[in-house]
Amino acid sequence: YTGKTGSEIITEKLMKYKVDTFQSMPIVVKEDDSAYDAISAMFLSDVGTLFAVDQDSNLVGVVSRKDLLRASIGNQVLQEIPVHIIMTRMPNVAVCYPDELLVEAANRLIEKQIDSLPVIERSSEAGAKVVGRITKTTITKAFVELARNELM
Ligand code: ADP
Repeated sequence: YTGKTGSEIITEKLMKYKVDTFQSMPIVVKEDDSAYDAISAMFLSDVGTLFAVDQDSNLVGVVSRKDLLRASIGNQVLQEIPVHIIMTRMPNVAVCYPDELLVEAANRLIEKQIDSLPVIERSSEAGAKVVGRITKTTITKAFVELARNELM
């Protein structure tokens, strides 16, 4: 018997959860793609947020459903609006890293009031390489995983 309480066991388990074991595949668009293309990509890949990259595949921004809705209510031709005009751009993009604790990424989602974070390679000398995606769904899955074994 270890003498650990239930909450100590859960905390210990949670502190082993790293971003890279839970991250999903990032869905990216080119910054020069149109808002229309971004909407298509969103439906095809069933995500709510797309990561915009430049010619060298470096992260330059994030485009969410709200960004696309905002562009859509203006009297504009969506085929003619490039993603880089409507996205949230670097350095204002909140990111996370593969070796970070998942709970730190979750806290960032709450603080910034956003749905997702791109996962960025630590050793990106030239620019930010996107290797994954952490979303509210990721956190929900981890939450259930934490309760499994203990409760289910
Ligand atoms: P939705 O638009 O689907 O509600 P969000 O709440 O995540 O999705 O997005 C709200 C705003 O925050 C949008 O303008 C979007 O560009 C921006 N945003 C989304 N993710 C990030 C991020 N990781 N860093 C900075 N801004 C972000």
